[in-house]
This record gives sequence, structure tokens and C-alpha cells, in this order.
Amino acid sequence: MVADMSRATLGAEKADPAPVSHALSASLSIGVLALQGAVREHLGALDRLGLRGVEVRHPDHLAGVDGLIIPGGESTAISMLIESAGLREALAERLDGGMPAFGTCAGMILLATDVADGRPDQHFFAAIDIGVRRNAFGRQVDSFETDLAVEGLGAPLHGVFIRAPIVERVGPGVEVLASLDGFEGGPRPVVCRQGRVLVAAFHPELTTDTRLHRLFVTAVMEAKGDEGSATAGAR
Ligand code: GLN
Repeated sequence: MVADMSRATLGAEKADPAPVSHALSASLSIGVLALQGAVREHLGALDRLGLRGVEVRHPDHLAGVDGLIIPGGESTAISMLIESAGLREALAERLDGGMPAFGTCAGMILLATDVADGRPDQHFFAAIDIGVRRNAFGRQVDSFETDLAVEGLGAPLHGVFIRAPIVERVGPGVEVLASLDGFEGGPRPVVCRQGRVLVAAFHPELTTDTRLHRLFVTAVMEAKGDEGSATAGAR
């Protein structure tokens, strides 16, 4: 277990957005995969946006959610627990079906298409066309924090990196919303998005800045809106 996960969220610095007020938000159901890692912190971020997160531990829980957050923690442990909870197929099915997802750190690894330095039996779901290398920003003692400019978010966002994965490959359909400079081989992407799948190499849930969560919630609302109009159109 990552030691830093248990600490309280950092001080509220930058503009914390107002609660999500869109009419749809009342009916939104955002799941947080609640098997291991920073589950409570993600639920807290949703709470600050005026949303109640749903803990997903079982395939039945997954059926009712409009979008899913996969927290940071340990991707190998989360992968094993997904298997033992019988969630693997249901999760793959929902992700293949276009369910919006937000993965932070280990969650990013689970959503990636290629994973280097993983365990041979580790599952990942290819929901975003990126290749990642686990623990590549250094071991836990080398964890670091830095301010990041994230496209579309305005003021810099504080990034807490804990044994973070490095994004080594970005597919053509993937937008890089933030990168870190100063690495051999050029800037390292740390926030990526493909359609309604958003990933961050760091832990936005460990600060009180909810702007990335809000970005994800907006994608979930759009997906739900599209679904609603598709259903209405079919009538
Ligand atoms: N190193 C972890 C892994 O590979 C990720 C660390 C984290 O989520 N903070 O799963």
C-alpha cells in the first residue's frame, strides 16, 4: 500500500470549482472502483462537487454507473482483486461499450493499452491508446510534487506523483492535456484523454482541487445526455 495515500488532502489553494449544477447531475451515478487504493479520496472529491460516488466492488454495482473512476494504489493488487471480485468481464464490457472512465496513477495503468514492467498476469483494459511503464518516475522515496499547466483548466494544478507510471507511447487519437519537461527523450505526458477516457499519472484526489474530476464529470454528463437523446430519437 502506498504510504502517502492515507494523508489528509492538501490545502485548498487554487480555484476549487463550484458544485456541478447541471440539471443532469442529480441523476448522475459516478462509480469509484473500491477494491484498493485512494477510494475515499475520490469519493471526497466527488462530494466536494456535490455528487455522491458509488463504491463499485461487484459486477452488479457496475451495471448502474454512468462513469467509473479507477483510483491510484497498486495496479497489480487492483488487477488481482478485479479478478477475484468477478469484475473483469463486466468491466471490460462496460469500457468496450464506451463507459466514461477516469484513471489516476494505478488507474491509468489499468486503462492503458500497453503496460511495461507489469506482472505477467496483470490485467489492463486498453480503454485509452497509450503505453505506460510502471514505477518509472522513480521509487516511492523519489515521489514528488509539482505544479502543472493542464490544457483548458486555467491556473496550474498541483500534481502529487507517487511511484508514477511514465507514458511512453501516445496513440494518434489521444490528446495530451499536460506534460512534464526535463526528461531524456522529451516531455512526458501526464494527463491524457481519448474520447471520454481521462487519465492522470498523478493523484488529483490527494489535493482539494477538483478541476480534473469536474472535467471527467462533464464528460459523463455529455455521455448521459447523448444516450438520452439517442433513446428519445429511437422512440
Ligand atoms: N506503482 C503503482 C502501480 O504500478 C502505482 C502507484 C500509484 O498509484 N500511486 O500500480
